[in-house]
Amino acid sequence: MSATTTPTTTPNWTVENSAELYDIERWSDDYFHISDNGTLLVSPNRNRANAIDVKELVDRLDQRGLDLPILIRFNGILADRLKRMNDCFAEAINQHGFQNRYCCVFPIKVNQQRDVVQQVIAHGRQYGFGVEAGSKPELLAVVAMTDPDMPVICNGFKDDEFIHMALLAQRMGRTVIPVVEKVSELDLILKHAEEMGIRPTIGMRVKLATRGTGRWQASGGYRSKFGLTVSEMLAQLDRLIELGMGDCFQLLHFHVGSQVGNIRQLKSAILEASRIYVDLFRRGAGLKYLDVGGGLGVDYDGSQTDTDSSMNYTMQEYANDVVYHVQTVCDEAEVPHPTLISESGRAIAAQHSILVMDILGVTAQGKFQSDLGELPEEYEQPVHDLWLSLDSLTSRNIQQVFHDAQVSLELCMNLFSGGYLPLEQRVIAEDLYFAICHGIQKIGAEMGELPDELRHLDRTLSDIYFANFSLFQSMPDSWAIDQLFPIMPIHRLAEKPTRHAVLGDITCDSDGKVDGFICGGKRSRTLMLHEHTVGQPYQLAVMMVGAYQEILGDLHNLFGDTHAVHVDIADGNVKVQSIVKGDTVQEVLGYVQYETRELVDKLQEAVEDALQRGVLNNEQAGETVAFYEKSLGNYTYLSHRKAAT
Ligand SMILES: *Cc1c(COP(=O)(O)O)cnc(C)c1O
Repeated sequence: MSATTTPTTTPNWTVENSAELYDIERWSDDYFHISDNGTLLVSPNRNRANAIDVKELVDRLDQRGLDLPILIRFNGILADRLKRMNDCFAEAINQHGFQNRYCCVFPIKVNQQRDVVQQVIAHGRQYGFGVEAGSKPELLAVVAMTDPDMPVICNGFKDDEFIHMALLAQRMGRTVIPVVEKVSELDLILKHAEEMGIRPTIGMRVKLATRGTGRWQASGGYRSKFGLTVSEMLAQLDRLIELGMGDCFQLLHFHVGSQVGNIRQLKSAILEASRIYVDLFRRGAGLKYLDVGGGLGVDYDGSQTDTDSSMNYTMQEYANDVVYHVQTVCDEAEVPHPTLISESGRAIAAQHSILVMDILGVTAQGKFQSDLGELPEEYEQPVHDLWLSLDSLTSRNIQQVFHDAQVSLELCMNLFSGGYLPLEQRVIAEDLYFAICHGIQKIGAEMGELPDELRHLDRTLSDIYFANFSLFQSMPDSWAIDQLFPIMPIHRLAEKPTRHAVLGDITCDSDGKVDGFICGGKRSRTLMLHEHTVGQPYQLAVMMVGAYQEILGDLHNLFGDTHAVHVDIADGNVKVQSIVKGDTVQEVLGYVQYETRELVDKLQEAVEDALQRGVLNNEQAGETVAFYEKSLGNYTYLSHRKAAT
């Protein structure tokens, strides 16, 4: 795989500098690295020799006529995540001599795309893994898609139909276990089981006293929406035992919330649940499975801390803790070790997709002018003062110059509002002011440190890079919960990036921006990017968008689903396994009840009208309608291709 063009390089800057700047080693989990040509590489099995060049791939897709933005899913990463879950638990089970097995059930709410679920099923099969459904539609999808012996766990609130479906599957011999979230659901299970003449397999979710921390802490604890309190559970167990059905209660479940950053919370939840498990077992429940729910985090920002976008533990440590604590509690109580289940969704899916988007243009905040020449004498005094400030700027007086410049600019604006400063002088004043700010920023960069009050300058002076994507469609958690995702260019990484940037999307919403980044080892308000030249492609990737982002994304401004391609690598060859085309204009309009036929008819009428009035000729009328019809079938995002009729 050789690049066709020789990369531009910067003296004293290497791809290692880029790797460090974008913190790749911290968050990449060995899946991502940089080629000697300065392009982004993906190694789905973490073997550097086996790499997919993202830039080459994107160029190939462009030749096929596929426009950016494109979501790229690396099937090999999904396979590797599943393998790692299995390996980590196998290691822990081995180490501790645990007397049972582990099973991961993938909660499809994390990413229900058929291609994704199929991959998870195909690669999880060899480890005996299963899936989790949290609603009727999810259950109906997985009941048909899974193998006969694959476990399916059913969480979420359930009605008659949901439970009937689960029991129909049980009657077919499938391991489809409904987890009781409310007492009334157990009533339904017992009713349907009796009608169908089967002995049901039942799971129950317990409300633990332990709460998670962070964003989703309300998923656990006494006030959680879900599950039975311990006292309710005891009452229901007594009821089952009375019916001679204690053995039907086979699975105990809990879930403390997603992206648990601190391992201590998980530990206490596991301990508490294990105690409940052994007590229920000894009271006569036929428990076989302990399901520890989700919560296993992903280190989005690579900081290895218990902050919202990170976690202070590894997958191996998680596996060790689950196995060790369950085993210790069971051994103490002389209760057989359960089959361990975890519903890890984010940890399986997050890394496997990236969104590649192109930069459309840049708005710079003022420019750095070193030689402005002399000002005409008749210019107002504060404009001259700005000029003098700029002229006098040195590393020793930056703070004073900055204060003077602020005062002068304010005076200029007051004069302007009062009608005493002509427009062209105002423009010069603003140019001078920003030139001073840029000058201070440059001196700061050379000194390595700016005084506190000037630290915001990087952000104030940053360029806005407009990227061809919708934040609301493709990374909603950046907007909704301020989650960080790593973002970096997919090429030019052998060149030094010199611009401080924030990203703007193409929605007409001022919230459609990204101004939190992982850059230079910390959370940063700007991202270093390369100078953008109009007409030259400049492409960025948002990493780790495989969990939750697709399904939570919405149609703000009617930007639809992006194209998605599934890619894998075999024997060094990169293969595009499938291309799922994104929404067309006509499809997104259909979601909000516009019918193509009616739209075209209406336009046709308007064109007819114009024809009658003599403002269009027949050829122009035909061209207008043909163009409209064709546009309805196109991608909702901006295209670099020439509009053709
Ligand atoms: C959302 C959810 C999960 C998935 O959690 P992750 O943190 O993504 O692994 C698992 N179980 C239940 C009950 C959930 O609601």
